[in-house]
Amino acid sequence: MTISDFFSATYQEARTKFINACEKRSLTVQSHLNDRAKGAMGEDLYMDVARIGPKNAKNILIISSATHGGEGFCGSGLQVGMLRENFFIDLPNDTAILLIHAINPYGFSHIRRVNEDNIDLNRNFRDFSKELPDNPAYREVHDWIVPKDWNGPAHAEADKAIENYINERGMPTYQAAVTRGQHIKNDGIFYGGIEASWTNLTLRKVIKEHASETLNLATLDIHTGLGPYGYGELIYVGNDAGIPRAMEWYDGEVTSPAAGTSSSAVVEGTIDGGICEMAPKATHTCVAIEYGTVPLRDVLQSLRADNWLYIHGDVKSELGQQIKKDVRNAFYCDADDWKQMIWDRGTSVTLKALKGLSEA
Ligand SMILES: [Zn+2]
Repeated sequence: MTISDFFSATYQEARTKFINACEKRSLTVQSHLNDRAKGAMGEDLYMDVARIGPKNAKNILIISSATHGGEGFCGSGLQVGMLRENFFIDLPNDTAILLIHAINPYGFSHIRRVNEDNIDLNRNFRDFSKELPDNPAYREVHDWIVPKDWNGPAHAEADKAIENYINERGMPTYQAAVTRGQHIKNDGIFYGGIEASWTNLTLRKVIKEHASETLNLATLDIHTGLGPYGYGELIYVGNDAGIPRAMEWYDGEVTSPAAGTSSSAVVEGTIDGGICEMAPKATHTCVAIEYGTVPLRDVLQSLRADNWLYIHGDVKSELGQQIKKDVRNAFYCDADDWKQMIWDRGTSVTLKALKGLSEA
């Protein structure tokens, strides 16, 4: 058995591996059907949840995959590997693990970062009873992000405009304009939606059931696509009060978008907000592990292409298939050395989280 065997080539394969690994450990899997969409092969889509540890645990560690759909190949591999390698077999009796497989099963299956409503879930966890913010910076770039064609003059013109923008104002400004999140263009990228998504409602139910009474809650939400190849950056998310604790747990390696130390731009509406609201009695130590894949420019370009494909293109066409391949490569490096790095870092961070919780 090699580490690469933990990882899968499709959502269906990943889900089967996760469920089989749970069964071998005699763990019950709660499967939440997403009845709003089907998978790329017509299959049903589920957010699958497995809990290890006692019902009334004081401490809970949540490890989640595929918030950003196609990034799930990485997180699923880590979850499956830890189940197969008998992680969490000797948990302290006040501690539980919640493994959430495929937070965004639609995106995982279709190899898209977004959900069935073109929503970036890490921009969707906000209070929709309040007025949604405008985003003038995104308005400025939107028409270039979504050109009418992908092989013709509109695309060439848009590319030129983006190139000029980056040359004049720098890559960080472009990254912030594009990725910060927007609620104004539902055919754009990094769209946060105008109401709570299926994932938002479902995840809240799951957390309420499993963690509403917990006193210390930690999350490791696994992502890919930012930073150096194979490196797992620990991005702190949530209320600033938890930063010193996270720094202590993770040996000072935690970065913060707000402090400008992260490869991520500042974003609002991330899923930890919803998780923390459903575990109101707990201290929260929420971290995203962000594993690097390919250069940022290629990542953003693949997202732009994928967005174009579902608005103006045909997924089944030759161009469509090439774009899907590019998106997959931008968020998942199907290489043994990369998977080894994912595994080493992911397991080490998990053990640190458990140690931190045990001392909380
Ligand atoms: Zn992500």
